[in-house]
Amino acid sequence: MKEILEKFGLTGELYGGFDGEWFGNGDILESYSPIDGSLIGRIRQADGDDYERIVKSAEKAFEVWRSVPAPKRGLLIRALGDKLREHKDDLGALVSLEMGKIIAEGKGEVQEMIDICDFAVGLSRQLYGLTMKSEREEHLMMEQWHPLGIVGTISAFNFPVAVWSWNIALSVVCGNSNIWKPSSKTPLTAIACTKLAEEVCREMDVDPAILSLLVGRGRDVGEKMLLDRRIRLISATGSCSMGYRVGRIVGERLGKTILELGGNNAIIVTPDADMEMALRAILFGAIGTTGQRCTSTRRIIVHKSIKQTLVDRLISAYKQVRIGDPLDPNTIMGPMVDTGAVDDMMNAIKLINEQGGKILYGGDHLDNPGGCYVTPCIAEAKNEMQIVQEETFAPILYIIEYEDFDEALRLHNDVRQGLSSSIFTNNFLEAHKFLSEAGSDCGIANVNIGTSGAEIGGAFGGEKETGGGRESGSDSWKIYMRRQTNTLNFAKELILAQGIKFGE
Ligand code: NAD
Repeated sequence: MKEILEKFGLTGELYGGFDGEWFGNGDILESYSPIDGSLIGRIRQADGDDYERIVKSAEKAFEVWRSVPAPKRGLLIRALGDKLREHKDDLGALVSLEMGKIIAEGKGEVQEMIDICDFAVGLSRQLYGLTMKSEREEHLMMEQWHPLGIVGTISAFNFPVAVWSWNIALSVVCGNSNIWKPSSKTPLTAIACTKLAEEVCREMDVDPAILSLLVGRGRDVGEKMLLDRRIRLISATGSCSMGYRVGRIVGERLGKTILELGGNNAIIVTPDADMEMALRAILFGAIGTTGQRCTSTRRIIVHKSIKQTLVDRLISAYKQVRIGDPLDPNTIMGPMVDTGAVDDMMNAIKLINEQGGKILYGGDHLDNPGGCYVTPCIAEAKNEMQIVQEETFAPILYIIEYEDFDEALRLHNDVRQGLSSSIFTNNFLEAHKFLSEAGSDCGIANVNIGTSGAEIGGAFGGEKETGGGRESGSDSWKIYMRRQTNTLNFAKELILAQGIKFGE
């Protein structure tokens, strides 16, 4: 543990504010590892005055950065990608140490950071606008995409490094300066990433304030970001309750938002499914990251005729899940992020029983140092149960049975969230219906692939209470820029649109 922390200089009292220099005048935040509950870091957080300093530095940095040609901005992100390649294993281990996901997933998360950097480098030469034919003679119409200003990223604990990179890789090539407020559960990984970004900026003679850090309380400095008109876009990843607040406060000042909120993701398993493939996808989706992915599989909607076979096979697979130290490469499921998350899971198990569900497997709190280890749970349930309708951020999998396919689709969509979805079937008609306008209502819909583990090339995000935001691939970059429509008159007279003759 000590060795990983030393590699990133994360020892002694650290500062949570960064604008080119490290500083902080707020309270001390302590970071504990869920592996054994040990204290792994002490950070002096940023307070209100520090916040003001960080925003001012970001404003100043933006004035220079916005005029650097976009392909040159891409070179900075290329160098950041290379730096991440160099530190992939160590940063992946730090993610495991502070957040608890297994080392393979920790490294996978850093790989996602590298992938989005590669994507953004290409993008830096493709920030295309359109040209349009004008209705007026000797006129040119076109649109340009300009940098936005300061972009604020508020991130969740469960992807403590990737969410930052999805946002900043695009935002930096788009010409913005950035302020990152990470989750208070994962400040060390945020400091490590910012240190790597600082190194890259210094090597390339770029003001590091374009990648500032603000470790502080959500309700304190986080709220300041929401209210601050100087922050043109807030990209917020987290729970739906947080998203409602962010949407309302930023909306009141007509600021832009990307909201990436909770999911309640289901897999439909039909009688035509390849059972082996479905089982592997369910296992990864439900247990991966100890059920703490926004795209974790939470509901299985399975045809009555195959339900018992699926449940029996799932239980036997669950029995073989190796639970333990996430840094041990043999571990399949690490701890939950903290004891509060374990309490939420235990409370949900109680409610499943009270609301008429039945625990089929697991759901126990294990007696390990640190207190964050649980057994994954499978429960028989009805879709309409209140607890099933909510996202419990834990490895609880609900088994819901259906009889006809339209009923499966109805059950699938009958939740408030709309992030990721999947169907396992080799029936062409079912697969197409699932992807049609009458099928899944989610932002992500997959056939014969589980709900989690998206690639960065597609736009990532969800509908309904998931917030409607999109980040990462496709044309998600557009929200990090402002669109400007230009009309240029090269005629020797002033011609009005719509044929209007004014004062003639
Ligand atoms: P959370 O809502 O508790 O916190 C998320 C972030 O919001 C933290 O940085 C927190 O400090 C900040 N925050 C909280 N209140 C704030 C306020 N009033 N003003 C400003 N910032 C505030 O979420 P969490 O427990 O860290 O993460 C788990 C949740 O995130 C789950 O619901 C999960 O589904 C969701 N998530 C969604 C996606 C997605 O892309 N859709 C990705 C990852 C996680």
